[in-house]
Amino acid sequence: MTRTADVVIIGGGVTGASLAFHLASGGVKGVVLLERNFLAAGGTGRSVGVIRQLYPSPETCRMVLHSLRVFQNFPEAVGGDSGYVGCGALIGVSPAMLPSLERSLEIQREVGIRAEVLPPSELARLEPRIDPSGLGAVLHEPESGYGDPTAVTLGYATAARDRGVVIEQGVAVIGIQVDAGRVKGVVTQTGERIDSRVVVNAAGLWAGAVAVLAGVTLPIVVGRHPVFVVKRGATFGPPHVVYLDLAGGTYVRPETGDLTLTGSLVEDETRHPMDPELLGSEAGFEEAAETLERTSRAIPALADAHYQQGYAGAFDITPDWMPILDESPVCGFYIAAGMSGHGFKLAPAVGQLMAELITGGRTTVNRAPFALDRFAAARRGASFVGSFLGSG
Ligand SMILES: Cc1cc2nc3c(=O)[nH]c(=O)nc-3n(C[C@H](O)[C@H](O)[C@H](O)COP(=O)(O)OP(=O)(O)OC[C@H]3O[C@@H](n4cnc5c(N)ncnc54)[C@H](O)[C@@H]3O)c2cc1C
Repeated sequence: MTRTADVVIIGGGVTGASLAFHLASGGVKGVVLLERNFLAAGGTGRSVGVIRQLYPSPETCRMVLHSLRVFQNFPEAVGGDSGYVGCGALIGVSPAMLPSLERSLEIQREVGIRAEVLPPSELARLEPRIDPSGLGAVLHEPESGYGDPTAVTLGYATAARDRGVVIEQGVAVIGIQVDAGRVKGVVTQTGERIDSRVVVNAAGLWAGAVAVLAGVTLPIVVGRHPVFVVKRGATFGPPHVVYLDLAGGTYVRPETGDLTLTGSLVEDETRHPMDPELLGSEAGFEEAAETLERTSRAIPALADAHYQQGYAGAFDITPDWMPILDESPVCGFYIAAGMSGHGFKLAPAVGQLMAELITGGRTTVNRAPFALDRFAAARRGASFVGSFLGSG
């Protein structure tokens, strides 16, 4: 059986759904999104959903600000609910990180992000439960917070369907047809062929495997990032803000039901490559104990919290911890992957940029920092913390 499409998107996570919406909103007909499992079954459904706006480049700052505005106005901009909670975010840095933070703040301000650098003593006013010792400064982003990645995916998918996109779940792509350096279409696990001159790899943690089907190698490592859920004690008081402790290597974000999601910010993910099929499996007690110890150093009142569960998450990580948003060397085969732990908060802007790229329009954001060939020239000093502050 063979049919045709104008664009085939592989992957129904937040990236694929956002792209489907943006293509259809731009008037592209014949968009088919294929998801091997169900919408948001991949990294998206396991995401912590933090929206912070500290990024080291004007491009990423613009993209995250655009995305924040979409999350804030999701019912009007897309439809549905993004689950955005603007509780504010605090980002603690060591004294050595302060110069980089100040440079990043300048970029934030230039693009219109609301943020201020404060001395650690200001924590007494903003969030007295954070331990200021060891911090050189704190960045306060009053509009940051968190959202619901699954709800955002479903919102985009519903709006995309309303605009004519065909979304098929339970359909895995097992082959990508290429002829004379140009993509021709895909083959699904039922043996069906869908001919298309444009195929987009939005397969998240599986993007490397999907690229290989077209003979393309992506510099992406799937690195383990476990998440732990604790229930705050009765004496904790009102929910805390989102706190990212770059100095101490931990983060917390509040959840309903007196819960807190926490994990590591020690950027050891690339040292722990993970089979993406293990996504969601139970995390070990040892790794939980290690992270929770750091968390309770950052917020001592969380030392009384009760451990609820831990699960294995993973990031699709590129060498510079920034996404690949580009056409591959196979003409018509596009890559929107390697989100490196940023894929939720950037998803609205990523969908827009990819739709602009595919339709041949001028991209709103300079896309050079996301080009696939940037890895040809080796970059040094890239890291997850670098994705907040830059490397210099
Ligand atoms: C634990 C964790 C915490 C995170 N925290 C944050 C955060 O706080 N803030 C933030 O901004 N980002 C965060 N992220 C990152 C962000 O959630 C991801 O980058 C983003 O959700 C990835 O979306 P995606 O659509 O690119 O990929 P995915 O969600 O992985 O979607 C890819 C989809 O492709 C499908 N697929 C794979 N192969 C095929 C195939 N052959 N055929 C058809 N379909 C296929 C998969 O089933 C999957 O549904 C976190 C991620 C994790 C895992």
